[in-house]
Amino acid sequence: MTTNSTLILGGGFTGLFTALNLRHQNYLQPLTLIDPQERFTFKPLLYEFLSGEMNAGQVWPCYEELLHGSDVRFLQDTVQAIDLQQRQVELASGVSCDYSYLVLALGSATSYFGLEGAQENTFAFNTGGDAAALERHLRACLHQACQSRDPQQRQTLLTVVIIGAGPTGVELAATLADLLPNWYAQLDGDPQEICVVLLNRGPEILKGDINRRCRQTAQNALKQRSVPVEVITDAEVSAVQPERVEFERHGKTEVIQAATVVWTAGKATHPLVKTLPISEENRDKRGRLRVEPTLQLTDFPEVFAGGDCAVVDPENPLPPTAQVAYQQGGAIARNLEAVSQGKVPQPAEVKLRGSLMKLGLGESVANLFDRFEVTGKVGHTIREATYLELLPTPIHNFKTTTEWLIERFFTNITTRLVLRVL
Ligand SMILES: Cc1cc2nc3c(=O)[nH]c(=O)nc-3n(C[C@H](O)[C@H](O)[C@H](O)COP(=O)(O)OP(=O)(O)OC[C@H]3O[C@@H](n4cnc5c(N)ncnc54)[C@H](O)[C@@H]3O)c2cc1C
Repeated sequence: MTTNSTLILGGGFTGLFTALNLRHQNYLQPLTLIDPQERFTFKPLLYEFLSGEMNAGQVWPCYEELLHGSDVRFLQDTVQAIDLQQRQVELASGVSCDYSYLVLALGSATSYFGLEGAQENTFAFNTGGDAAALERHLRACLHQACQSRDPQQRQTLLTVVIIGAGPTGVELAATLADLLPNWYAQLDGDPQEICVVLLNRGPEILKGDINRRCRQTAQNALKQRSVPVEVITDAEVSAVQPERVEFERHGKTEVIQAATVVWTAGKATHPLVKTLPISEENRDKRGRLRVEPTLQLTDFPEVFAGGDCAVVDPENPLPPTAQVAYQQGGAIARNLEAVSQGKVPQPAEVKLRGSLMKLGLGESVANLFDRFEVTGKVGHTIREATYLELLPTPIHNFKTTTEWLIERFFTNITTRLVLRVL
């Protein structure tokens, strides 16, 4: 690969939107996007994909399709090693790529806190593939339950445990507590037999998350689903075995038999990011890369990093969210172009506009600018409108820059909706 090429490692929110913005800006350097997956996952809408409210083309589109008609090269491969000194990247296929500019957009990894059996016996919920696998499994459990005459076996088949009451755990629990009774009723099962349990280590759900201001609304919504979600706090999971979750609570060991266990509990720094020769002082305490306000690495200005694998101010980190990664993708694109033209890169400005959470089928909460909370069906409309506007489309349709999309939505649609509601 030519040495003046720009490599983007990871095609998530940061990486894909860096690539799309660069092509929109008519960036002249050869550009390659590398990701092990064939498809981009629009994670905030993964629940809609699981429930069938949205299809794979919207939530889980192929990179080839998204980049069709552009000269961005897509390599479906896994980065195995990054040599910042030699400006070289090694891929699992054995290919080695040189670069002039590099974008680190690898996101984060899942942490199982060293808990034996957790990875093997739980479902992940990070990609379109994970959502599709979970859907297949849940449908199979419901079918089996309909045919089972053994009440204990039926209860196990109809119980779902979600470990971790961060935003993903809460949104998934709320979605399943509406969806599964619905699916089961279609099979002539008794919807009230469905049991959705949300286990959380700490005493509060959504702790330390951007959505914590919506905690009360979320708690109420979890109680009001087709079957109420059973939220168990102060529950430290101690073992996960096939169809069995064990946890410690108030000094006692408790067990739940469940055919479906989903792990949404922990995030860790991406292992490749940990291996980079970056000093402790240029990392935060979780090992993420500390970047300059321009999103460049201090000692390697030809390398940019954004999203979940980077932090600008370790004392005051931005939340690890799609809205941050998306805006940083736009900023990296602008700065890459500036640097490649010998111009001065500018500090990336990230504006937090609040948060959006799905709280069941047709129900969401939108916390706007930390000032307004809109719930129920109107909240749902705001959430859907926001995400539909942000869905990436094939390059020839890619309308315009990050700022334009966000400003258009927030200054027009949201304001009108909020004013109408309040
Ligand atoms: C279910 C779910 C729901 C969410 N909902 C919301 C929401 O409603 N709002 C919100 O703001 N945020 C939400 N988030 C968080 C948000 O999606 C992340 O913060 C965001 O995706 C981070 O973007 P990123 O580019 O840093 O990483 P990612 O989007 O995770 O992208 C990282 C990419 O790197 C690739 N990669 C990993 N390892 C390698 C390797 N070795 N070689 C090459 N490529 C590699 C991965 O395949 C992936 O495509 C949600 C997350 C999840 C899991």
